[in-house]
Amino acid sequence: MHRLMTVICLTAAAGCSASLGPAPTDDLLIHNVIIISPERQEPSTATDILIRDGRIVAIAPDIPNDGSASLKVIDGGGRYLTPGLIDAHTHLSEIPGMTYQHEQANQKIARDAKQQIPRSYLYHGFTTVIDLNATPDYIARWNRRDIRPQAHFCGAAPVFDGYPMSFMPKPARYKIMPYFLYDESRADEFPEHADPTEHSPEAVVTKMRADGAICVKTHFERGFGGRGDLPVPTVDIIRELISFAHEAGIPVLLHANKQTAQQFGIDAGVDAFAHGMWTWNDRSTTTLNPEVINVLNIINERDIATQPTIQVLYGERDLHNPDYLRNPALRDVLPQSLIDWYATEDGQWWRKRMAENPYITELLEEGRWKDLDANAIARVTATLSFLAENNGALIFGSDTPSDPTFANPPGLNGRLEMNNWVAAGVSPQKLFRTATIENAQFFGLENEIGTIEIGKRADLLLLAESPLENVAAYDTINLVIVAGNAVAREDLSARSAERDGE
Ligand SMILES: [Zn+2]
Repeated sequence: MHRLMTVICLTAAAGCSASLGPAPTDDLLIHNVIIISPERQEPSTATDILIRDGRIVAIAPDIPNDGSASLKVIDGGGRYLTPGLIDAHTHLSEIPGMTYQHEQANQKIARDAKQQIPRSYLYHGFTTVIDLNATPDYIARWNRRDIRPQAHFCGAAPVFDGYPMSFMPKPARYKIMPYFLYDESRADEFPEHADPTEHSPEAVVTKMRADGAICVKTHFERGFGGRGDLPVPTVDIIRELISFAHEAGIPVLLHANKQTAQQFGIDAGVDAFAHGMWTWNDRSTTTLNPEVINVLNIINERDIATQPTIQVLYGERDLHNPDYLRNPALRDVLPQSLIDWYATEDGQWWRKRMAENPYITELLEEGRWKDLDANAIARVTATLSFLAENNGALIFGSDTPSDPTFANPPGLNGRLEMNNWVAAGVSPQKLFRTATIENAQFFGLENEIGTIEIGKRADLLLLAESPLENVAAYDTINLVIVAGNAVAREDLSARSAERDGE
């Protein structure tokens, strides 16, 4: 991507840096760091690293300062240098907890939030984000900002009128989710204006590839919260989708958090599940039963990767925590104006709607908000533990925001997901590998990012503590480097934007 941009830059001359976002004009020399990176068996000895045009060009002890005015020199102070992290499940156009109507009614708050969101991902070390359901226009706009993680997207291919487009008004849904799939068994319900040949698996994959998608996301979801009648795709449609995606060299993720949905994914041959399995056929238990273990063993045999996204469930639960909005960690990732709005009648809309569910009403009346989703959390944690113990394939992703909940804040949500993994028994080493090179490999980005090697994009973190020792090391990030631009962590905080009068 970057090389292509450089070529465009040379020919377009003026106005170039404005359209490119963070033009990496300065060279950067970082002295005295210990490199921790997944291609290395162990941390390096003290070394220097040189970055030019946003890429790593040299790694060696004692790289001399050539004295050129454009060379910026940083003293690493013997701290740890790692690759930037990848959050491979985000929804970047959404402000957590706000609908489109709320954004329209609170434009200044929404604008400040959208200004902060990219910085919040960086604040927590995420230098690459993958949106599992985006339009190419939004991703292009995101990547034109000065300071932001590099964004990529999957084309979302639900069967027509299935989840999640079922929640959007007609006919807008056909524009919002243009890669929907035709199903001839429901031909009479297909939208009149649409052409079935443009919604075959082949046509859909061709279109999303042309639009720049690096992956396909499809869905198997009959509904939840009292709904169970949504249309789902047939296994043949998804098999065809997978075969065209693989021909195009891109992976297919399936939205599947139920045992039946993951069984469907196994039958179809998907590459990954976009959620962990938190709904089991046997709802009476939260300890692994032989049937679930059997499904997990097949998932491992077929090397199907899992994105546990446990924060989806905490995002529902924490909404009902009366102290949630007083958590000081929110102040780094959300403007105060948005936190204040969450506390208003309007801002509480989703919490109130959830609280109307009789089961939730009862829990809340008894002060037991912590029990909400407790069984689902226990089940998905048990499945993640099993996968971790049996060396199953994982993909790191936070699903930010999952519901219309405000309890899925950008950046922080991924940081909390890391804690969930470690609590399930994933080692800090495995977590680090997954959030860097393994995520990069799954999405075909391993030549660009995921390790600290010559030629790669300089997306790096400088930390005071080692992330191989303890997940809390991610709270000791000092410096975030994106395509060679170094930004002090405190300057990425929402507190700093407010201090500077934005
Ligand atoms: Zn999602």
